[in-house]
Amino acid sequence: MSLATPPHESDRAGWTWLELNSERCQHEVEFANAQGLRLVGYWHTHPQTVPAISPTDIASFSRFAARYAEELPHPIAVIVGLSPQPNGIKAWLFRDGACREASLDS
Ligand SMILES: [Zn+2]
Repeated sequence: MSLATPPHESDRAGWTWLELNSERCQHEVEFANAQGLRLVGYWHTHPQTVPAISPTDIASFSRFAARYAEELPHPIAVIVGLSPQPNGIKAWLFRDGACREASLDS
């Protein structure tokens, strides 16, 4: 992964939800594509030491994968927790209707 864009003032978020501004996202994707980069997923934070994916996240990413089945059928969810240790950032891959946690040793 070589680029993670920061939050934007046009995004809307609560403690358990996040709505990205689709126009802004489209613009960022086009800009990144022009530099040879590809969107693989999106990230958000959790107020947990070691982040765990939530049922809301799973539902949200599953909807995203279905909606963008052509562009990004297998999105990656990166969740940033509070721990400064390596386990403070985790990733999950959505594929074939399942959600699998990414691990460094497999
Ligand atoms: Zn979440």
